[in-house]
Amino acid sequence: MKDIRTLTLDQLKEYFVSLGEKPFRAKQVYDWLWSKNLHSIDEMTNLSKPLRERIALEYTINPVSVDLMQKSTDGTIKNGVKLHDNLMVESVLIPTETRTTACVSSQVGCSLNCEFCATAKLKRMRNLEVAEIVDQVALIDRQSRLYFDRPLSNIVFMGMGEPMMNYKNVVEAIHKITKPEGLGMSPRRITVSTSGIPKMIKMLTDEELKVKLALSLHSAIEHKRNEIMPFSDKFPLTDIMDALQYWYQKTGSVITFEYCVWKGINDGDEDIKALIKYCRQVPSKVNLIQYNPIGEGKYDHRSIAAEEKYVRELEKAGITVMVRKSRGGDIDAACGQLANKTTESEI
Ligand code: SAH
Repeated sequence: MKDIRTLTLDQLKEYFVSLGEKPFRAKQVYDWLWSKNLHSIDEMTNLSKPLRERIALEYTINPVSVDLMQKSTDGTIKNGVKLHDNLMVESVLIPTETRTTACVSSQVGCSLNCEFCATAKLKRMRNLEVAEIVDQVALIDRQSRLYFDRPLSNIVFMGMGEPMMNYKNVVEAIHKITKPEGLGMSPRRITVSTSGIPKMIKMLTDEELKVKLALSLHSAIEHKRNEIMPFSDKFPLTDIMDALQYWYQKTGSVITFEYCVWKGINDGDEDIKALIKYCRQVPSKVNLIQYNPIGEGKYDHRSIAAEEKYVRELEKAGITVMVRKSRGGDIDAACGQLANKTTESEI
């Protein structure tokens, strides 16, 4: 049966008119689906019972469900989220003193093959539907209220998958999350993280969504980056910079570079110099992400000494740099550790 959440508001209107109902019914249903995140047609109490039964003859709602919830000692909650076809993604709630961040997935698995990332070891199975992305946000919001007594405050598209490779659904999900007739959250609290596909960054710019943009850089030296993130040989750093400049000119929003420092890979002076040179070309800041080992040998050794050097040199160069502590490492919920470890057998 078809999921009623695949219909637009206009299509819902047409549907109700075809049933001989008033068009405003569409707005009522849309409100249940996208503002209240209701998962049951039968609970749409402002519709008559016969009408609810009539809709249920043709449409269903396919909600995601939490299959397994793990809590880290630092408060981080990792959800193994089951989709209607039994595939799994992971969605993480990350609490700090003042905020709750949802780290959401955009694809089941990932088609990029970043050597250091656990999700890359899963092949891409499919893109997530709009509702499957929105459901992750809604479920983490409920968890935040339940366990931390406050609503969800931030969303990062840093879970499984490459958001730009599921572009249409990610953009539509952002609309549903931010529009007043949806969840009504502020777009400024949403960060889309990408490994850098220049054409898509430009497209995203033109959507005028008011979200923030993060780019997973890891090296500003072309051949090194291509080794670390092999797909990126199709996307030269100059083209990426061109797209980032376009983004900044149109949005005025500072770009975050995400960067891990590995021993023997990008811990030299020339690496730092290249990063500084790259950063200077666009208003930006650097997040040094603490690397979470995934047992891949050569990437398993982060260099703390080099991280400290990066901080010193970047600061000297007047570039804002933050060291991002890893969260949820004890439950494999940290960056790059999302690989359905606990649930692989069910796929
Ligand atoms: N595909 C998107 C979003 C998912 S990855 C992207 O590439 O940006 C989210 C962030 O986690 C990226 O910056 C990625 O480089 C980083 N990451 C991946 N594996 C990691 C690991 N094992 N430890 C720390 N960060 C990792």
